[in-house]
Amino acid sequence: MRFGRIATVVSALALTATMTACGSSEKTIDQEAKAAPTSGALVGVTMPTKSSERWIHDGDNVKSALEKLGYKVDLQYAENDIPTQVNQIENQITKGAKLLIIASIDGTALTTQLQQAADSKIPVIAYDRLIRNSPNVDYYTAFDNFKVGVQQATSLLIGLKVQNEDGSEGSAKGPFNIELFAGSADDNNATFFFNGGMSVLQPYIDKGVLKVASGQQDFKTTAILRWDPATAQKRMEDILTKTYTGDKKVDGVLSPYDGLSIGILSALKSNGYGTADQPYPTVTGQDAEVASVKSIIAGEQYSTVFKDTRQLAEVTVKMTDTILKGGEPEVNNTKDYDNGNKVVPSYLLEPVIVDKENYQKTLVDSGYYTAAQLG
Ligand code: BGC
Repeated sequence: MRFGRIATVVSALALTATMTACGSSEKTIDQEAKAAPTSGALVGVTMPTKSSERWIHDGDNVKSALEKLGYKVDLQYAENDIPTQVNQIENQITKGAKLLIIASIDGTALTTQLQQAADSKIPVIAYDRLIRNSPNVDYYTAFDNFKVGVQQATSLLIGLKVQNEDGSEGSAKGPFNIELFAGSADDNNATFFFNGGMSVLQPYIDKGVLKVASGQQDFKTTAILRWDPATAQKRMEDILTKTYTGDKKVDGVLSPYDGLSIGILSALKSNGYGTADQPYPTVTGQDAEVASVKSIIAGEQYSTVFKDTRQLAEVTVKMTDTILKGGEPEVNNTKDYDNGNKVVPSYLLEPVIVDKENYQKTLVDSGYYTAAQLG
């Protein structure tokens, strides 16, 4: 392994530190962390933006878990500006970071920086979003992105009563008018979400149960650059004006991210939806952001997909620690994430559909949010 030199000693002490981290004495962890060869090493963490809550949780969780293990952390946000993220990564390399954790903005824009990292023997973990077109991505940690799309589409079918919760055929036969939204085309995940969603919806479109009334059905036309809520709102407005004239109504919207769902719901609201006579269509989402969970509780947005950022941080930090101590981190997928240059060994976590029925159990009882935050 090209960064095998970084940590030559996997000491018994380090191993004990990892083991005690799972349970026993706090004091021992601190003592061992101080003794570990990697103690105090700098880890560079770059996140895309603070404009979406999830990345704030991700950054906080990763930083605090690394610091608990004795690492120094440089955490940066780039407000979705690619040159800013490029600079941040270059700075981290200059400052002597021993490993980089990167949630990229444009997954194809970091080839040069990753080459610099490789030249300095700095391992790179792509965090949540795969970095493309580079041999210098060592690992990838994320949720099962295809499954996220499958879950969004399944939830849309359930909201329309075309399918029951248990997967059996629902009472409604359609035809239903739906519209499709995809994420940012430069984010590798967006294609996975869309393809996952279409794997579920296409058979219903083919049977005529679902109709994409605008006719805008391919990834390119439905993609929303940088996941921008205002762009999604504008696109929904345009579709409503052009397609939904007379008595024609939207019954469902496949939305891949809560921020977009909020924009889509605003467009619907200003076009008369959200009343007793004209309820909102079934609108999906992703990330279980507070505003969207509140909207779900209020009966507006139908569902979201929860990706527990605590788990992602835990897996990524464990991977970081293992790599820096010279070990071989655990992965659970070595086939699905080809970045255009190589298949990147990945650790994928399970996403969960959240709706009005299970938000309490999934989000509050699990301690992700307090009841007050959602009140
Ligand atoms: C993430 C999603 C998020 C989206 C917008 C994607 O890469 O996987 O969780 O909703 O970016 O921030």
